[in-house]
Amino acid sequence: MEGDKLSSDRTGVAIIGGGPAGLAPLLAAHRAGRLSALLKEGVTVVEQSDTIGDGTLGRWCIHSDSTGFTFADCLAGPRDGELAALRSHPLTKELLQMREGPVSLRRASKFLAAVGQAMNEVITAAPKSHVFTKHKAISTQRTRTGWLTIVKNVDTGKEHSIDSRIVVLATGASQPAERLQREIVAGVNLVEHWGGKLVQSGDVLSFTGCAGTSTRLAKLGRAPRVAIIGGSTSAAAVADLLLNHMPNVSFAPGGVTILHRRELRIYYPNVNAALADGYAEFGSDDICPVSGRVFRLAGFRLDSRELIMRARGIGGRAPEPRLRLHRLGMDDTATLKLLDDADLIIAALGYRPHAMPVFDEMGKRVSLLAETSPQAPLVDDRCRVIDGSGNPIPRLFGIGLAAGFVPRGKLGGEPSFRGQANGLWLWQSSVGELIVDSCLSPYRELGYSNELASGGHLAQISAA
Ligand SMILES: Cc1cc2nc3c(=O)[nH]c(=O)nc-3n(C[C@H](O)[C@H](O)[C@H](O)COP(=O)(O)OP(=O)(O)OC[C@H]3O[C@@H](n4cnc5c(N)ncnc54)[C@H](O)[C@@H]3O)c2cc1C
Repeated sequence: MEGDKLSSDRTGVAIIGGGPAGLAPLLAAHRAGRLSALLKEGVTVVEQSDTIGDGTLGRWCIHSDSTGFTFADCLAGPRDGELAALRSHPLTKELLQMREGPVSLRRASKFLAAVGQAMNEVITAAPKSHVFTKHKAISTQRTRTGWLTIVKNVDTGKEHSIDSRIVVLATGASQPAERLQREIVAGVNLVEHWGGKLVQSGDVLSFTGCAGTSTRLAKLGRAPRVAIIGGSTSAAAVADLLLNHMPNVSFAPGGVTILHRRELRIYYPNVNAALADGYAEFGSDDICPVSGRVFRLAGFRLDSRELIMRARGIGGRAPEPRLRLHRLGMDDTATLKLLDDADLIIAALGYRPHAMPVFDEMGKRVSLLAETSPQAPLVDDRCRVIDGSGNPIPRLFGIGLAAGFVPRGKLGGEPSFRGQANGLWLWQSSVGELIVDSCLSPYRELGYSNELASGGHLAQISAA
């Protein structure tokens, strides 16, 4: 690393990635009336695109699985909070009008872009805080007092370094081709056997991907057969898109199959509502102890929920004969036949975090737990990034899509939940607050020596 040859900015916390997750700790601080205190510490947001707030959410051509109210709720906070004026913005009103219903992710993304623009103004008005758009973070290296992050201007290629006490990785996630290459279903490698007709859910859920898929299926000139592998919200969202939002394509009964490993769970706001629907597939471990909700994290919501309830015949819903549900691991011969017969196979296997290269004080690459296996999380239960040996890396936090944070204890969520909690609202409230707490903690609580603690958090550093 050549940070000593570069111009350097000093700050309290460097947030890498200015998408919905990057903004979430700032919104959590705003909610709790602590935004100005956080900005006084110095906050620098680094974003490779030219705006902050919306990230990649507007890429998807589907409806949200969070409600309009949930999106708008990110503006909650003190009456005279820094973002108070946005509460009467037309986009906020539009979302609030949708109440407990879904919204198009494109509209939600426009709203988040407006929030990002307002937050940008608040950050840049604070003397010690900055926003670097059109800057890509290349790597970060641990120093005696925190982290030295190298960022590159995407237009000019010019590099400079950001010297911060804390780094938050909010760099989003992707569906890596390498992971797909290793994926085995019913004892058979997916790519080797069906690579020619195999795509990932992100390739279908994007606007261009949706149009391409619709054309591809319509061209068959008969009712297509599609197999979706996965039991997540993405799998159900893909099924809903195929069945209900592709007018050029007609599916016959059983035309779309979701092949899933785990039970498909249904969200209910409380136990009584579930029982009133005759839904009793849950025990005490499936109920959030904080909110009383059933399958608060694992359960399908909104459009996906309706579809799965129809396919499963729950709650007196009209049946959906075009959708078949097939549990993996029960009958491999039937699974292989479904895959052989499919015109298109869509892998909806979730996302993996991007993160970025991390170096120790000696300049040696630190392996991250997330790099060790396709399921390993990036962070622990305090949003701390974990190294390859399972230890939290001091003052390095992660948040966002596929970071692998699982809420526990006072944060709520059902104890039985396994997987990724990818809802924005949690990041903008209790999860973001965990990071804010750390940013506002004195040095000692973050594992610093007394000597450094007395030096203040913008202590002199020398680049590696
Ligand atoms: C299909 C789909 C539907 C979803 N629907 C919902 C929903 O309804 N409700 C909900 O709450 N959540 C939903 N989510 C989950 C989540 O809210 C979104 O994925 C959200 O976009 C995640 O935000 P993020 O900031 O983690 O990632 P992103 O939105 O991808 O943002 C990451 C940002 O980091 C920037 N970046 C990356 N690397 C660098 C770098 N090295 N240097 C500088 N900048 C960098 C990127 O340019 C980008 O702006 C959905 C997810 C998917 C995939």
